[in-house]
Amino acid sequence: MGGFLDISTLLFTVAAATFCICVSLILIWSSARRETCILSWGVAFGLAFLTMALVALRGHIPHFLSVTAADAILLASFGSLWLGYRQFTGFNGRFDRWIAGAGALFWVVLAATGSLLDDMNARSIVLSAIEFVYFLSIVIDLVRHYSDEPLPSVGLTTVLVGAHAAVQLYRIAVSITAPLDPATIVLPNTLFMGLGLIESSVFVVFLGLLQLVLIGQRSERRYRIVAETDSLTGLANRRHFLERIGPALIGNDEGGALILFDIDHFKSVNDTHGHPTGDRALVAFAATLAAAAPAGSIAARIGGEEFALFLPKAGTEEAARVADRVRLVTADLRIPANTGAVSLTVSCGVADIVEAGPDFQNLHAAADGALYAAKSAGRNQIVVHRQHQRCNGTQVAMARLS
Ligand code: GH3
Ligand code: MG
Ligand code: MG
Repeated sequence: MGGFLDISTLLFTVAAATFCICVSLILIWSSARRETCILSWGVAFGLAFLTMALVALRGHIPHFLSVTAADAILLASFGSLWLGYRQFTGFNGRFDRWIAGAGALFWVVLAATGSLLDDMNARSIVLSAIEFVYFLSIVIDLVRHYSDEPLPSVGLTTVLVGAHAAVQLYRIAVSITAPLDPATIVLPNTLFMGLGLIESSVFVVFLGLLQLVLIGQRSERRYRIVAETDSLTGLANRRHFLERIGPALIGNDEGGALILFDIDHFKSVNDTHGHPTGDRALVAFAATLAAAAPAGSIAARIGGEEFALFLPKAGTEEAARVADRVRLVTADLRIPANTGAVSLTVSCGVADIVEAGPDFQNLHAAADGALYAAKSAGRNQIVVHRQHQRCNGTQVAMARLS
């Protein structure tokens, strides 16, 4: 390294950064104790810090501490890191804690039972191989998890850990093709060692910072979902429906239709069978609506027993077909209750942009007028809003479909 970069100085610097990340993670965990992944990551960084301090002291402290114990602690750190990602992705299983400790345990057994680890190159190969397995497993879990939680920091972590896993394969290849003196203890000040350490340093610091970002992005996403979701049915709430429908209407010249649903005589469901049964009926209707909603449509609970479905690009005919499907399936629902199975019917009002215009207030008023007409006409039916241009003005007519 020609005095350009000193291995011990590098190690102490990275150890300091690792310690800071460890403290930050533990602090975050202390106020969010259910997030066990943060604790596992904090422990991983704490163990990595310990390893770096022991390795930096090579030559000054006993060989057992600075080599055998340091590497066992490093493997425990990888295991804890792996465990943290298992907990983060929710793929954690019964034996995960054992698997997290297996690398370190394997190392201790190797050290106790033979002389293989006396060889610097063998140590490097075993260490990199175990590291590769843990990190490849993290990449696989993150790839599987991404569709459930598509956070930018999940994608970046996957790339970072994947690249670091690939570097381990390279290290194994170098240890085989260009081995060091087997008796090496103190890391030599070579360019390869320096670059390797810089790669590890960048990886450790970047990974730690990404974990902090990951935690922040996850909690922001969770709060946003809670704020946008109706807690009873899991559908979008009224506010989120209005937020989403706005952009879908602006400059929309491809059509778009709004269906308003109102469950018939719902008050009497509550009165006869009790509020909890009423709640279950709302959940069952919401599931029916969600199942019938075509891809790209926006379904929401916009009031107590009032729901909406916006179909971008659709006209009233397609919307009336969807509404009728929901109406028919709803009529077949039987919600179990102590007081006997509850059945429901629903009335629907349909309007589209072609007839009512792209302004939401007008579109909603048109669909609401049609819904009112459906109620007046006896309920359990669909009414479509129709607007016929006349020379002397606009006349609104309702066409009943069923
Ligand atoms: P209509 O056919 O004219 O729509 O009659 P309705 O009884 O459905 O209409 P109304 O507006 O009189 O009553 C709506 C009922 O919906 C009254 C209210 O208690 C009930 N409701 C609103 N939100 C909830 C809820 O979250 N859970 C339950 N169980 N009931 C609710
Ligand atoms: Mg109502
Ligand atoms: Mg009602």
